[in-house]
Amino acid sequence: MKLLRVVDVSKRFDGQPVVRHLRFELEPGEILAVLGPSGSGKTTMLRLIAGFERVDRGEVWLQEKQLSGSGRHVPPEARGIGFVFQDYALFPHLDVLGNVTFGLTRLGAAERRRRAEEVLDLVGLKLFRRRRPHELSGGQQQRVALARALAPEPRLILLDEPFSSLDAGLRESTRDDVRAILKQAGIGAVLVTHDQEEALSFADRVAVVRDGAIEQLGPPEEVYHSPTTPFVASFLGHTN
Ligand code: ADP
Repeated sequence: MKLLRVVDVSKRFDGQPVVRHLRFELEPGEILAVLGPSGSGKTTMLRLIAGFERVDRGEVWLQEKQLSGSGRHVPPEARGIGFVFQDYALFPHLDVLGNVTFGLTRLGAAERRRRAEEVLDLVGLKLFRRRRPHELSGGQQQRVALARALAPEPRLILLDEPFSSLDAGLRESTRDDVRAILKQAGIGAVLVTHDQEEALSFADRVAVVRDGAIEQLGPPEEVYHSPTTPFVASFLGHTN
């Protein structure tokens, strides 16, 4: 069964189409990068999948569960999807453990602690559990945000420009680490980025978007070497 199915989803803001007939599927454990220029509707696509926005038309399915469409709108917290945003949005007054356990309200205290320790181990931050966010580097904060998203054991996580506030050097190593963590845990992901190098190196498949619609979707090497439209070719920097 597919992990995620986005079926002909469209969204307008103030009458302007922002997402147009979005359609793609994700296999379990697959990583898809949505690549496109600023303002092309990438964040809105993620927000529609997350449930922060309602679809105007179309459907979103997570495995056998319909999340959006046909009058249905499952709220974000009930979707079973993890999110990591560009600015991490950690709680400054809570330590690392507090940040990671925050959303695990359905578990008892001991189980919550056990799960938090497990994901902190996964992201390599077990020894930092008592630190507050301001006592961590950008890369470490990013990992706390990832640990928090992974703690409820989602099958899918959504990543909105998660590496763009990191320094160039740290960006590449953090990206590789996050990719390895997702692959090890078998978690699928949709990553939104305007950075083609990031999309091509992080994802199993890349969707290039323009004005709210997918122009081309395929494996990184195919999209890079065989762009099917002039827009994709010029966005990826091909001169001919
Ligand atoms: P990207 O992530 O590719 O930069 P966005 O999805 O953030 O693109 O934005 C796409 C377009 O939708 C932009 O023109 C933006 O101004 C507009 N937009 C996004 N969210 C809203 C909103 N809540 N209300 C009105 N317009 C919005």
